Amino acid sequence: MSGDDTLVIALAKGRILTESLSLLSHAGIEPVEYPQGSRKLILDTALAQVRLVIVRAADVPTYVEYGGADAGVTGKDVLLEYGGQGLYEPLDLGIARCRLMVAGRPGANVAARRARVATKYVNITRRYFAGQGRQVELIKLYGSMELAPLVGLADFIVDLVDTGNTLKANGLAPIEHIVDVSSRLVVNRAAMKTKHRLIKPFLERMRRAVAASHRPAAAAPNTAR
Ligand code: AMP
Repeated sequence: MSGDDTLVIALAKGRILTESLSLLSHAGIEPVEYPQGSRKLILDTALAQVRLVIVRAADVPTYVEYGGADAGVTGKDVLLEYGGQGLYEPLDLGIARCRLMVAGRPGANVAARRARVATKYVNITRRYFAGQGRQVELIKLYGSMELAPLVGLADFIVDLVDTGNTLKANGLAPIEHIVDVSSRLVVNRAAMKTKHRLIKPFLERMRRAVAASHRPAAAAPNTAR
């Protein structure tokens, strides 16, 4: 779908969508219709050559690697789980910051025995424990990981933690920190060359939007006399 004169950007549905749209808007890319109130999967923007596609967070790397989109926004957790070398990751957007953690019942000891760990991040979790020479049994889940230790399905979970409220509400506690997570801009390696004319200014505007969003609000001029 993406001709040489069009830039297609894949955005992840869900909690990072609003923040992604806000950064894009600061970079001058404004959808003509907002996805939250729509079932459309392809959104035109006020710029004729830029289109947005809305996909599941875990599918963003696939769309971008195989050229269904030229660029995309998704979490570092998704990128680490996806692996692969096909993506260029030029920019940390600094949004949707959280931590990927091992969690379980307070005081539980992961090293105690061959623990069962439930997660949707099986690749990251395998690498993390293998890197420490610890053997665990992995159980793949697609959501509501917090339930697994409560019903005896697993001893631990590996999941994203932001405020910690979800863990707490389910009688669980963070135990080990695996990696800090934030949303990243990814670009298709081939598009980086073939669509340089569109991608270079897009990256520049995104860089400026990110820098502006991290800058403390300008101090109000001191009008006191
Ligand atoms: P919290 O209760 O604030 O610690 O949030 C934890 C819940 O929100 C878990 O179900 C996480 O999977 C999910 N979560 C937290 N941060 C993110 C994020 N940046 N992106 C996607 N899901 C998240």
